[in-house]
Amino acid sequence: MSGPVRFFQGQITLDGPSGTGKSSVARAVAARLGAAYLDTGAMYRAATVAVLDAGVDPEDAEAVAVVVAGARIEVGTSAGAEVVRVDGVDVADRIRGAEVTRTVSPVSAVPAVRRQLVEQQRALVEAAEAVVVEGRDIGTVVLPEATLKVYLTADPKVRAQRRAGQLGITDPAEVAELAEDLRRRDEYDSEREDSPLRPARDAVIVDSTDLDRAAVIDRVVSLAASAVAVGERT
Ligand code: C5P
Repeated sequence: MSGPVRFFQGQITLDGPSGTGKSSVARAVAARLGAAYLDTGAMYRAATVAVLDAGVDPEDAEAVAVVVAGARIEVGTSAGAEVVRVDGVDVADRIRGAEVTRTVSPVSAVPAVRRQLVEQQRALVEAAEAVVVEGRDIGTVVLPEATLKVYLTADPKVRAQRRAGQLGITDPAEVAELAEDLRRRDEYDSEREDSPLRPARDAVIVDSTDLDRAAVIDRVVSLAASAVAVGERT
């Protein structure tokens, strides 16, 4: 594997549903390009930790907005190390737990929460010369002028199997439960009114159903090279 190739300056957005391998692809692409990396899902997950700790009902949008407005959410922008803190406390492991995963969709559907975190995301992106940003609404809402927009998707069954593999789950009933969780979260994310999950009109759709991780990474890096070449010609 080669070291970073620093030909890329600008912003790459990587959106798509859960379980497509977005995070691992985004991190690897950032490392290959020597770019910063921002996981916006980690920010919504951190906001969810604040909501759970405050003991408010995650479906109570007003209470959720108040709690998140008062929480100090910090995320790192390095592809090599995951830094996620809420009010100074490291929550990098906790945000991946089942409780947060179950609760994050209603929290992230609250418009005031989105406004707050989108503002923070734009400030973090502005500080970087080259950056890969992953999420659900990055190409459509957060960075509509990005250099390259990718929408990563895969067959729902394949996504559930991959996620099960990552978690070491083999029991068919548990895999089915996981598939149902993914489906529910995608439905919630796609049907919310504010910034629903959908590809930007100018996004390149990459379907990873029949591609392994390395092939997806190569494809995004080569799309980045093409985007730079087009940018230089215009
Ligand atoms: O990507 P990840 O699974 O960590 O995202 C967790 C949740 O955060 C998503 O299911 C979605 O509800 C929310 N999210 C969002 N907008 C983003 C990133 C994540 O609403 N840009």
